[in-house]
Amino acid sequence: MRQLSIICLLSLLCVGCSKKNETKVRKAIFIIVDGIAADNMERLQPPCIFDIAKAGHYGRAYCGGKVSTYSQTPTVSAIGYTSILTGTWMNKHNVRGNGNIEANYNYWTIFRIAKEQERPYKTAIFSSWTDNRTILLGEGRPETNNLKIDYVYDGYELDTLQFPKQKDDLHIYAIDSLVCHKAADCVRQDAPDLSWAYLWYTDDAYHLYGNSTYSDEYVLKEDALIGKIWDAVQYREQHFNEEWLVIVTTDHGRDIMGYSHGGQSDRERTIWMATNLKQVNKQFTPASLSHVDINPTICRFMGFKLPKDVSFEMDGTSFYGKRDIYDLNIYNYEDKAILSWQADDSETMVDIYMTPTNLFKEGGKDTWQHVGTTRAGNKQFTVDLHDVPSTIYKFEVVAPNNQLTIWDIRDPNRPFAPKK
Ligand SMILES: [Zn+2]
Repeated sequence: MRQLSIICLLSLLCVGCSKKNETKVRKAIFIIVDGIAADNMERLQPPCIFDIAKAGHYGRAYCGGKVSTYSQTPTVSAIGYTSILTGTWMNKHNVRGNGNIEANYNYWTIFRIAKEQERPYKTAIFSSWTDNRTILLGEGRPETNNLKIDYVYDGYELDTLQFPKQKDDLHIYAIDSLVCHKAADCVRQDAPDLSWAYLWYTDDAYHLYGNSTYSDEYVLKEDALIGKIWDAVQYREQHFNEEWLVIVTTDHGRDIMGYSHGGQSDRERTIWMATNLKQVNKQFTPASLSHVDINPTICRFMGFKLPKDVSFEMDGTSFYGKRDIYDLNIYNYEDKAILSWQADDSETMVDIYMTPTNLFKEGGKDTWQHVGTTRAGNKQFTVDLHDVPSTIYKFEVVAPNNQLTIWDIRDPNRPFAPKK
């Protein structure tokens, strides 16, 4: 008997060894909890979200694109979700509000990217707002290559019999609760490769009562719901050979009183992220980190491959893995575009590409020209545009571990100065 148990123990240990040597199957889930300002998060320190951060990191980030440039993006819900989904700002994805949405599906969502991979990936959505799937992801539309989501738990807000309107819209909190329980069950049982969970009620609480004990209470209640999903992820990691990436964030901050959002004030632009990723790069710092970094982070973690044209449009940078360059800027001098950037790795080389068209926006193909190579540490490159007059130039600075993109929009009524 004793011998038998020793054999059992040995064989168990061996299973443990071989499991350790196997590459773990990677899975990713991102959770958007609506409209919680970063200062409220940090004051309340909701225990479940901060438990995720304890496994990895918590940090402030920004939303809303770059202020006063072509990429400035209103701090509005559906606009924010789509920046997260596509890794691009509003000037590209074209979701301009919460209604009458005309998304430009040429900019692929992370769900489309997953489905365009050679090996099949299972996807899931758990959402208190059905438009997230039907409109923002564009499920079943020819423009999204008939995107299909494998596990769908949404549509509850359209079911007014099961969820009749309640005082203070508390039926939305009931829906969030159901959505999170479904998400936790699905993660536990089916373990989709890529999942998005969306919780709505915190935004309602702040719209009703601003910064208040009422809103605090519902931040903590929504946090507890997120805890159900986090428990399910931990269960999977303990019982299966899986490694999960979890990212929790919000779609926008709020104004000073907490009631509203949509503008470009610091508090409205300031968001936060929590992730269980143990190692993050310097992109995970408040000045760099933003909504558009989530898509490329998931892509890199999952090993998704992207067509060059799609990746060249991405405005974000992965906070997982190595980063070489960041903070690309541009200014014009007559017929020149002067690009400048910062470098984590000065010795690496960067290639600069330019296209004087934006055919991608209409579903066409831009011809990217290689216009130069330089050391990343030079942090600057000048491109002469004299022979290619246009109203838009798109630039790409490509380093071995990441790339950055920027537009140069020219006013046709302000021509180049004559060449001397
Ligand atoms: Zn919102």
